[in-house]
Amino acid sequence: MDQIRNIVDGIAPEGLSGAFDHALAVAQGQGVLEEYRVLNGTIPVALDGVWYYSSTEIHCDRCLGMEKKKRDGSVETVYYHDVVAAAVVRPADHVVLPLLPEFIRNEDGKEKQDCERNAGKRWIEKNGGRYGPLQVTLLGDDLYACHSLCAAAQEGGMHFLFTCKEESHPWITEQVKYSEMNTHEKRVWNGRNHLAHRYSWVNGIENRAEGEKLLVNYLRLEIYNEEQGKVTYTNSWITDHVLGKETVGVIAECGRARWKIENEHNNVLKHRGYNLEHNFGHGKEHASELCCLLNLLAFLFHSIQDKADEEYREARGSFGRRDAFFWAFRYEINRYLHESWQGLFLTLAGNAPDG
Ligand SMILES: [Zn+2]
Repeated sequence: MDQIRNIVDGIAPEGLSGAFDHALAVAQGQGVLEEYRVLNGTIPVALDGVWYYSSTEIHCDRCLGMEKKKRDGSVETVYYHDVVAAAVVRPADHVVLPLLPEFIRNEDGKEKQDCERNAGKRWIEKNGGRYGPLQVTLLGDDLYACHSLCAAAQEGGMHFLFTCKEESHPWITEQVKYSEMNTHEKRVWNGRNHLAHRYSWVNGIENRAEGEKLLVNYLRLEIYNEEQGKVTYTNSWITDHVLGKETVGVIAECGRARWKIENEHNNVLKHRGYNLEHNFGHGKEHASELCCLLNLLAFLFHSIQDKADEEYREARGSFGRRDAFFWAFRYEINRYLHESWQGLFLTLAGNAPDG
């Protein structure tokens, strides 16, 4: 393990970008990516910061640091790693496809600590050429709805759809307040209740900062539960997609799918089989970031297989829990020789507890 750690410690994360590109090209070749083209012909890509390591003792040159007061009053430094993850998502699909992330990290000579917004901007600037031609719409939480990230997305040839809360964007809120809003209502039966989806929107609102401005379109969704007699959900977004009666439904649905990067990506990586927060080896330079990337790559491979490989799907589907599947997989390859992946997956499907 020490030797592996030493090897990965010397590899800069950029060294793995080709593996992500290759996997995505495979997904594209298999038609997997096209399944996600649901938003005005674009593919939704959610961005989100993920904290994946913290320690008061083990740290490296890339670690971020935070002062924390202990119970006895003394102060200690908590070292941590955080990354802006990116994943292809779509409404009503639990399979997400991780893309290259951007690490939030301290660089030599910089006094101010790096943050999610800066790293998010770097992700957009670095990856416009890589993902822009695929025609994507970036999804992000309220933190991303600032002028500079919207402008960066447009310069990078990408659309955006960012959550925009009233309290954190007063200038946008003020304009919306004095605008004549378009409205549309759609009744939905969710199997238990009648819901009224109430959309209100206005195109051409200014998003500005430090003298710069660009025009965005503002959408608000309120869901009223008729049986309960109350509003059960509200959210609002800004986007560069033009809003109209025909498009607000799908745009709001994709805006709501942003949470999938938290639930189907970050949470799966941390708690359902990948142990993202485990310290696989910290090293002095890149090991911590490399181990995170290898984990993301494994998850990407599995997601593509889930979509495009019938035998894999059968094997995986025979196990309820992902970690139980992984344990059975390890057991099988440690003890038996399999002639092919297909044979291995079919054996796993047959040996599953409920298979
Ligand atoms: Zn570190």
